[in-house]
Amino acid sequence: MNERDSEAVICKLLESGHEITEREESADIILLNTCSVREKAEQKAIGKASRILNTSGKSKPTVGILGCMAQNRGQSLFQELPGLGLVVGTQKFHQVPELLEKTKHQKHVIDLAEEIGSQNEIKHHTNLKNGPSAFVSIMQGCNMNCTFCIVPKTRGQERYRPMQEILDEIYQLVDDGIKEVTLLGQIVNAYGRGEFARVDQKSPFVQLLEKIHNIDGIYRIRFTSPHPIAYGDDLINAFERLPKLGKYAHLPMQSGSNSILKAMNRPYKIENFLSIVDRLRKKVTGIRLSTDVIVGFPGETRADFELTKKAFIEAGFEMGFIFKYSDRSGTPSVLLDGKIEQNELEYRNQELLKLLEIQSFESNQSLIGKTLEVLIEGEARKGRGQLMGRTPCFRKVNFMGDISMTGDIAKVRISDASVSSLSGNLV
Ligand code: SF4
Repeated sequence: MNERDSEAVICKLLESGHEITEREESADIILLNTCSVREKAEQKAIGKASRILNTSGKSKPTVGILGCMAQNRGQSLFQELPGLGLVVGTQKFHQVPELLEKTKHQKHVIDLAEEIGSQNEIKHHTNLKNGPSAFVSIMQGCNMNCTFCIVPKTRGQERYRPMQEILDEIYQLVDDGIKEVTLLGQIVNAYGRGEFARVDQKSPFVQLLEKIHNIDGIYRIRFTSPHPIAYGDDLINAFERLPKLGKYAHLPMQSGSNSILKAMNRPYKIENFLSIVDRLRKKVTGIRLSTDVIVGFPGETRADFELTKKAFIEAGFEMGFIFKYSDRSGTPSVLLDGKIEQNELEYRNQELLKLLEIQSFESNQSLIGKTLEVLIEGEARKGRGQLMGRTPCFRKVNFMGDISMTGDIAKVRISDASVSSLSGNLV
C-alpha cells in the first residue's frame, strides 16, 4: 500500500516539475512515506529522518514525513524531529506538491484532514519499475476495528473507488505493458460492501474480479489484504471459475483460539475459518495458502497458543507472516491486561516459524520435477545471469535466462526447492 501511495506522490511531483534523484545527498526534498503497523517500522522512520536532519551539508533538504505515522503522531513529530518541515496524512498524498510550496514560507506545514474522494486520487503510475506487475488501489480505510490495529485510526473509514475508474486504470496499464495487477485495500475483499449492489449473489468485489478477468492482456490478478469474513462462497467459487486468480490465497487467521479471536475483535470462530480453508482446498487442487498470525496477544495462554499451532497445521499454511504482538498507542489492546513477557513472545514466535518452515519446505519440495508457468519479473536478487519469475501459486522461481525476457510468461522445470523459493531451467 505504501509503495503504491509513494508512486502516486512521485507522479504528482513529476507533474509539478520536480525530478527524482537516485542519490539522497543531492536531493533538495526528502519525503519518507511511513508505516505505523508495527513499533519497529515507526522507530526505523524516526531514525532515518533524524539521520537526514542531522547530516551537515551545504544546503539542508526540506524533509517531510507522509503516511500513517504522520497521521498517527501529527504535530508532535515537529518536536521530536527538529528541522522537519512537512507532515502529510493519508488522505492528502495528492496535495504534496502544493504543501511543499508552502514550506518555502512556513517553518512547519501539516495537513492531516479527511478529504472526501481522496481514495480516487491514488491512480497514476510511473513507468520507473519496468516490471510486468502493478499495484492498483481500489479502496482506502477499514471499518473492522480489530483491537490490535492502528489502521482504522490512520486510514479512516472504508471508501471505495468506482468500478469503472478502476477498470479504466487497468486498461491504461495494459497499454503500458502490464500483465499482472495486485488489487490493494486494507480489507480488499470487502470492496464496495453496503455501497454497491450485489448482483446474482455476487459481492461487488467478485463482480470487479470478473470484469478484470475479461480484460485481454491481463494474465494474473492478485489482491491484498483480505479478511476471512468476506471470503463468501462467491469468492471461493471465483478461484475455480477465474483462472487468472492463480492458485494462491491469503487468509489472515491471527489466532487459532476463539477467546483470543474475540479479544482481538475478529468476528469469526476458528471453525468457520478452517471451513473456508477446507472449501478453497477442495475447489482448487494445489492451491497455496498463506496467513498472518499474531503471537502473544494480551491474555494468550499457552493453551491458546497450542490451539493456534493446531489450526496452523490443520490449515496446512505454506506461507505466513508471524508477528509478535506489540502495543500500538491508540489501539484498544494497549489497555488489556495479561501482556506476555518478551521471552515467552520469542518462544511462541520461534515455534510457529519452525512450523511454517517445515510446511513451506515440504510443499515446495513436492514441486520438484514439475513444469510450471512463470511470469518473469526481472533479474533475480542473486544476479549471476539468473531471472526471477513467479508461478500462479505465487512462488518465486530462479532460473538462467536473458533479461530481455522480463514480462514474458515462460515454462520452467523445477529442479530444486528451498523454504522460500524454487529453482529450475527453462523448457
Ligand atoms: S481488518 Fe485488517 S486493517 Fe482492518 S482493523 Fe482489522 S487488521 Fe486492521
